[in-house]
Amino acid sequence: MSAPSSLLIKDGRISAISAGAGPADLPQGVRRVDMAGRFLVPGLNSAHVHVGHVVGIESGIRFYTRDRVEEQLALYAAFGVTQVSALGMSPPLFHEIRRESQAGRLKGATLYGAGPGVGVTDGAPPAKVMNLSDEQVARPRTAAEASDVVDQLAEAGVDQIKLWIEDMNGQLPVMSPEIAKATADAAHRRNLPAVAHVHDVSHARLAINSGVDVLGHGVRDEEIDDAMLAAMKQGGVRYIPTIQIDEAEYIYVDRPELADDPFFKAAAPEAFRKRMADAAWRETQAKKGEKNRPSVEMNKRNLAKLHAAGITIGMGTDSGATPMRIPGFAEHRELALMVEAGLTPADALRIASEGSAAVYGQKDRGVLKVDAAADLVALDADPVADIANMRRIVSVWRAGEQIAGAPA
Ligand SMILES: [Zn+2]
Repeated sequence: MSAPSSLLIKDGRISAISAGAGPADLPQGVRRVDMAGRFLVPGLNSAHVHVGHVVGIESGIRFYTRDRVEEQLALYAAFGVTQVSALGMSPPLFHEIRRESQAGRLKGATLYGAGPGVGVTDGAPPAKVMNLSDEQVARPRTAAEASDVVDQLAEAGVDQIKLWIEDMNGQLPVMSPEIAKATADAAHRRNLPAVAHVHDVSHARLAINSGVDVLGHGVRDEEIDDAMLAAMKQGGVRYIPTIQIDEAEYIYVDRPELADDPFFKAAAPEAFRKRMADAAWRETQAKKGEKNRPSVEMNKRNLAKLHAAGITIGMGTDSGATPMRIPGFAEHRELALMVEAGLTPADALRIASEGSAAVYGQKDRGVLKVDAAADLVALDADPVADIANMRRIVSVWRAGEQIAGAPA
């Protein structure tokens, strides 16, 4: 909020907003929290993450435990992220943790997500590269099987249906249009949004033509042309750029001083920071970076184009999918990258809160208005003046309860 204001919070929701400091005498049972000099913004909502998959510099199903997932949700909260959507690669335990989190019984960011997600046999997401077990991804062989998988996930409890449409530069078989369409159709019968992993414009086109609702990554090989833009508008397709995933391949080499930065240190595991000093690792990453820099630039260009055209955009990072994508840190980098793409800090913040909610059809959060969920972050500097001020976290609130202080 930009002028002195007060919020009344009741039953986890904002029940009134008024100018000034609010009444001097409060009714019984109402607690006053003094926020003088603070800037209050909606909690960040990361619409594309993965939980319980990475610990330190390793990944694997063995890390999907209740403790690890809860730890990661608490870490997000410490960085001002009050809601996340885990888009795939989650084993059955996900459904139980999701239910408890959404009932408010767990600390940390509220967990939404897709469960395992729908992939391709011997295709994306690549089991070997990503170190995935069979229970982390369903791989239907026919349209009928895909439809059954969606029904099973809907019964078990999910908020989205994730599908992978990608051939890794022609190295892997891509999902057939029939299976993609069957998956999206089945999701719609269950009132769930279908969210596609895509990388290239050809996969984005396949996704849109199959009835997918959300592109879960930015298009990074080519500029989105006017025909695709028109198809997105007509189909109401939403967009999550995840610019940081490519930057994550080279930023640690570009900026070795990060290893001593307190904000980064609060997010990055010790094993990761140690590895940043390893010369051989740095050399490999530097080479990889050459491929990723143009992807970042194209992703920014497409974001600016879609934003200008009025497409609904949410903020996501794919944090937690690999050790390079560091939960908490990635979300703040994504904000900075959106501003580098030409958006104002206010636009970036809106995308990262209201936009992320809108991508999945949630209208009651991500905005400071009466009846919205009281998921809030208090800062000691104005993020609209400089997006980096979003790091100046004083306290984090979910459903009106404080769940974190400043990142430690
Ligand atoms: Zn992902």
